[in-house]
Amino acid sequence: MNAARPVWRGTPVDGTYLLYVDESGVPDRHPSQTTHFALAGLAIPAVLWADYHDQIESLKATYGIAGEEIHVAWLLPRYAEQARVPNFAALSRSRRAPAVAAERARTLRAIEMDGRKSADLRTFYRKTAAYVHLSWEERQALALALVSLVSGWPQVTLFGDVINKQLLTRAADEEAFEQVVSRFQTFLARQSGVGVVAYDLNESQVARMTAGMADFQRKGGLWRKMDRIIGHPFFVGSHTSSLIQVADVVAYAIRRYVEHGEGALFDPLFPAFDRIGERLVGLRHYRGGTKCGCNICAQPR
Ligand SMILES: [Zn+2]
Repeated sequence: MNAARPVWRGTPVDGTYLLYVDESGVPDRHPSQTTHFALAGLAIPAVLWADYHDQIESLKATYGIAGEEIHVAWLLPRYAEQARVPNFAALSRSRRAPAVAAERARTLRAIEMDGRKSADLRTFYRKTAAYVHLSWEERQALALALVSLVSGWPQVTLFGDVINKQLLTRAADEEAFEQVVSRFQTFLARQSGVGVVAYDLNESQVARMTAGMADFQRKGGLWRKMDRIIGHPFFVGSHTSSLIQVADVVAYAIRRYVEHGEGALFDPLFPAFDRIGERLVGLRHYRGGTKCGCNICAQPR
């Protein structure tokens, strides 16, 4: 019976955007840590979610990691055990993984006999186990392919904030969060859209976001100004969300560009950050009052 069917009277669904947020570096200022903290947001129209998700998963499948989580900090380093496997590059992918696993088992046995702590190494081995059939070159190529896939989407808009922690008095993660979400709000207002913000579901992030949210509510203001954003944080597991995994790559690319001048991953992404005409409005490098010659700081805003 047609008469019983509810009629949708809300905002058209194509005006709804999802913002996937992830970070790179730690917010602490300890000298042993990275100089910068980066937060990235990747916005897509909600209706394109399944299409984009499928494209990322297809790319991962060509590298033999379908359904596995991509986390760049684990994906990109050199793995010492691969160098110890004779003729690693010449082996088929199916023979590489067991060869690396055998090398790793040997390393752990040697450390244990030596009485040294192996917990960190075990963690590293566990986090990288899904990628050991890929050479270092193939893993770099995968990250590049991911970046070129995403920057080629006409409907993606990127946001980011990268902060020199030494030059900021407040907590870098709070500052970056406010920056990224405010910039997303401004974008939504221009599009006459509404947005949902999805964060990586990990313990430190949930604790921080929940505290941050309570703080905003105490201070009032922020969420009332954010009238285009659903004022409730949504958390998604990075192992199941290919788009959170991409946000992780974007955050990493921003931080590595600012800290080390590495452009390989950042340069293809740069044009996808939110702009109004020539003005870059979606990305900021916070550097106090100091001079900076990076491409982010050189852009008109
Ligand atoms: Zn700069």
